[in-house]
Amino acid sequence: MNTSTTIMWFRRDLRLTDNPALEAAVAAAHGNGGSILAVFVSDPALVKPSGVNRLRYLSACIRSLRDAGLPLVVLRGNPLQVLPALAKRVRAQRVFCTGDFGPYGRRRDEGVRRALAADDVELHSVDSSYVLEPGTVRKGDGSPFKVFTPFSRVWGQSAASHMPGPRMDPGTVAWLTTVADEGLPDHASPGGSHATLPEAGEMAAAGRIRVFVDDHLRAYDEMRNNPAADATSRLSPDLKYGVIHPRQLLALLGDHPGEGARVYRTELCWRDFYADVLWHRPDTARSAFTPQMQGMHYDSGPHADERFRAWCTGNTGYPFIDAGMRQLLAEGWMHNRVRMAVASFLVKDLHIDWRRGARWFMEQLVDGDLASNQHGWQWTAGTGTDAAPYFRVFNPVSQGKKFDPEGTYVKRYVPELAGVTKKYIHEPWLDETAGDFTTLFAAGGASQYVSRIVDHAVERSEALARYGAVRAEPRP
Ligand SMILES: Cc1cc2nc3c(=O)[nH]c(=O)nc-3n(C[C@H](O)[C@H](O)[C@H](O)COP(=O)(O)OP(=O)(O)OC[C@H]3O[C@@H](n4cnc5c(N)ncnc54)[C@H](O)[C@@H]3O)c2cc1C
Repeated sequence: MNTSTTIMWFRRDLRLTDNPALEAAVAAAHGNGGSILAVFVSDPALVKPSGVNRLRYLSACIRSLRDAGLPLVVLRGNPLQVLPALAKRVRAQRVFCTGDFGPYGRRRDEGVRRALAADDVELHSVDSSYVLEPGTVRKGDGSPFKVFTPFSRVWGQSAASHMPGPRMDPGTVAWLTTVADEGLPDHASPGGSHATLPEAGEMAAAGRIRVFVDDHLRAYDEMRNNPAADATSRLSPDLKYGVIHPRQLLALLGDHPGEGARVYRTELCWRDFYADVLWHRPDTARSAFTPQMQGMHYDSGPHADERFRAWCTGNTGYPFIDAGMRQLLAEGWMHNRVRMAVASFLVKDLHIDWRRGARWFMEQLVDGDLASNQHGWQWTAGTGTDAAPYFRVFNPVSQGKKFDPEGTYVKRYVPELAGVTKKYIHEPWLDETAGDFTTLFAAGGASQYVSRIVDHAVERSEALARYGAVRAEPRP
């Protein structure tokens, strides 16, 4: 009997429940009487752009798997070299992993497959982090969808039948534990993030699911746009690192009648949609999905840099925007409604390139995900899928009034505005009881809060003029 080792290469699937790649690795090892080595490769190419919050969260996910009994070894280096060397060392003939569908992951996996094959080692890519594998939902003629609604119709027909698999008990598996752990690089660098992150791991995610289903799911359709209510699932970091699979969520939704569950299912579909778009168009991680919008004029230079800094630190003078940007700094996460408002503000009020904002988000977000982030930005910037009309310019004041009518969210993150009444919380410069704008700042209430760095009405016209100009150019 062949008793070689089987390697399970963990990536964005850091869970024991419903993990088909892990199940396949266990089955293969049982089949030949060998043991399994569980490994995570800390790849410098991914560590660099990850941002401290994601690295901290990743580290906690790995710890949590170990606490659950999985002897997961971390090795450092380029997987193209690390995995073939490891396979040789432990005499492995197969490596299992969950498929990666991002631009870098696809290239890397192809390289690893070739490098392993040179030594007669097989790479088995099983399943994906999505309900449906990117690239598989197609129009009748086989072409990819560019608009969400028709994609979601086809997705909905196939998604229903995907049921979650069982939880694996690490105690029942013969693990290989002789490979020394190299550990993740140190993330507590000076000047690094001090954001308060959610607890990581499957148990913590299960707790979040319970709270969401019990307290928020029924009214999700009505409450999901209210950032003060915090009535969304907050499962995006768990989905990002595969601590849960969206199949598990769909299975739960199956029993829930009503609009809340329907709308939540649609949100999960958006995640699949953007992964699908990026799979077909990897270039859209860096450039506009709509070719014509690649000619859009954005500001740069010291003045733009100063405005960008004000935006990053939550000091634009628009309370709803500043609350969102400060939530991002405090928690490494921001409510979806506010993500749209701050993204629109950067691009259409400050005229700064969406890619700059997207990069800042990827540095800060604990759920930072290339497909959802770049396409969330492109949608807001009017450069992306879904024919987002170029004239959709979010008004930072009316967004606040509509979605945070009491100013609760603003006051949570912008303490300088604690004394401002509901009437003026989204436009403190209009508070006549405090005299004019200048005296308001001198006289208490909003005493230390900054002045508006731009006038929305003026910048909206400027944004429309720029979009008009690019649209008037001949189509490439
Ligand atoms: C500019 C911008 C940048 C974004 N960047 C990211 C990102 O880096 N990573 C990320 O996971 N999401 C991103 N989103 C989408 C969305 O804001 C987050 O998924 C959501 O806020 C996460 O909170 P939640 O888990 O409580 O969401 P819920 O409302 O509970 O939704 C459930 C799940 O559905 C998915 N989902 C919801 N809305 C979207 C959406 N618009 N696009 C794609 N998936 C969605 C997420 O996986 C989410 O966890 C971005 C949106 C915008 C507008």
